Amino acid sequence: MMEDCIFCKIAKGEAKSWKVYENDDVYAFLDINPVSEYHTLIIPKKHYENIFDTPEDELIKVMSVVKRIATLYNTKLGIKNIQIINSSGKEAQQDVFHTHFHIVPRESGDNQDVKWTTHKEWRVKFDQLLSGLQ
Ligand code: 5GP
Ligand code: ZN
Repeated sequence: MMEDCIFCKIAKGEAKSWKVYENDDVYAFLDINPVSEYHTLIIPKKHYENIFDTPEDELIKVMSVVKRIATLYNTKLGIKNIQIINSSGKEAQQDVFHTHFHIVPRESGDNQDVKWTTHKEWRVKFDQLLSGLQ
């Protein structure tokens, strides 16, 4: 538990949330600033900052709940399109520093449009990039 972490407080029931699902390790709730209906956050109950310090077994538990909720929304609500988003790090647009995955249901005409600027010229560097991983 991190003293000032809002998601720790939510997971412990010390701050209000709109709970979708919980088990011993994972908590899922609706995002307070929804970008679409049923915009949901899935978090480990233990405090980790992001992908880098979250142990693999915790991530597996979180992802298992992501799958469960996606299935629930699909079968109960007929939602057929979702985006699953995790931002890790300030420059990657992470705002709350307690590991979380977004489930964002999408549908045509929802007025959302996630666009990436592509840089095909960076292909020439691929061999060099991969050599940095050796
Ligand atoms: P990030 O930008 O870190 O990927 O996403 C953080 C998300 O947490 C945002 O979508 C924001 O709306 C949501 N959020 C921040 N504070 C609260 C809160 O107190 N309750 C809920 N339900 N969501 C929150
Ligand atoms: Zn926390």
